[in-house]
Amino acid sequence: MGGAETLYLIHYHEVGLKGRNRGRFENQLIRNIQRSLKGVPTGAVRRISGRILLEPTPDTPDGVVRDRLSGVFGIANFSLAFLVPNEITTIRETAWAVAQNVRFETFKVATRRSHKAFELNSDQINRDVGAHIQSLSGANVRMDGPDFTCYLEVTPDGTFVYGEKIKGPGGLPVGANERALSLISSGIDSPVASYRIMKRGVTLSFVHFHSQPYTNRNSQRNTEELVQTLTRYQYQSRLFLVPLVDIQRHIMQFGAESYRVVLYRRSMLRIAEAIAQQEDAQALVTGDNVGQVASQTLANIRAIEEVTLLPVLRPLAGDNKEEIITQARAIGTYETSIEPYEDCCTVFVPKHPETRADLDRVHALERKMDLQPLIEAALEATEMKRFKR
Ligand code: ATP
Ligand code: MG
Repeated sequence: MGGAETLYLIHYHEVGLKGRNRGRFENQLIRNIQRSLKGVPTGAVRRISGRILLEPTPDTPDGVVRDRLSGVFGIANFSLAFLVPNEITTIRETAWAVAQNVRFETFKVATRRSHKAFELNSDQINRDVGAHIQSLSGANVRMDGPDFTCYLEVTPDGTFVYGEKIKGPGGLPVGANERALSLISSGIDSPVASYRIMKRGVTLSFVHFHSQPYTNRNSQRNTEELVQTLTRYQYQSRLFLVPLVDIQRHIMQFGAESYRVVLYRRSMLRIAEAIAQQEDAQALVTGDNVGQVASQTLANIRAIEEVTLLPVLRPLAGDNKEEIITQARAIGTYETSIEPYEDCCTVFVPKHPETRADLDRVHALERKMDLQPLIEAALEATEMKRFKR
């Protein structure tokens, strides 16, 4: 086919809706595509007619490119496409060339035309190209669920022809918005919560609380593995590891066993707030799910959140457990999350935690305690680890 160029054609629906911010989002998306392909031999990335194009080189590994692009937020879908001049004979021939790589008994042609000056409208193109494929293949046209769809996009810069559309993760490109600090455990929920917020363009820093030496290192190792998995989506991450054990021991001296979880969590949030400030993070993220466990009743969520002025994002608040598990599997965190572990809250947890924490009681208990120096010491002893994809 004369003048045909092979390219990855990348679509980004939602980004297109962003009005004045559009240019910034597109630039971020291009940067993220380039970052995701680091170490993979490819040609240039460029933008035309509301699409992004990635040029392969002869040694570009298609499987790797597909895998990388399917993890870039902001991508709605992508395809390996031919770009040909806007001439109906060339479009016809290219469509047939694409069709010859596929086995099918039924097919359709789906045209989108943004180049309004083109001689034929989309319906006429569908009929013209459809008749050509039908006469050469003997296959039948079927509008609903055909074996093969030949996609055509007629733009002022030429026509894209392709036969396969690969789904991207959608969302907004990471780094285009702001930063938040995610409280991550080695459980199922917080990695999924983190993913949801990253998907909205927010860059995350992570904080994990451990109770070493009372907990083995597994929960910390698993958490590190989870942060590594999530770093796929934002290219680099920082994880803060905070020792909570002295605070927990202090709290345990004051009895009130059923209030311990709420009291631990309040201290966790105070520490998280201080780290958020260092990180210039505008919000905290947790995997809280309303009603799931004792610390997640509304009364307890309120008693915990009270200590921070930062907004606490809880993207899983209204989800069912199955929905969370399905997503954990899809993003690759589930297997790590179900490994057995002890975390800071399983070791020092009461048998019957309070489900309706009373704020006056919480305040009275904390007045007897001397938490501030311990919070400062925990911050002082915090370790930071960096992750790269
Ligand atoms: P997960 O599956 O995320 O552990 P969970 O259902 O076990 O959540 P909780 O243990 O009550 O629920 O934790 C609620 C949220 O508090 C977690 O999703 C996480 O955001 C935060 N959190 C709990 N434990 C820790 C920890 N050790 N370090 C950091 N954050 C934590
Ligand atoms: Mg947990």
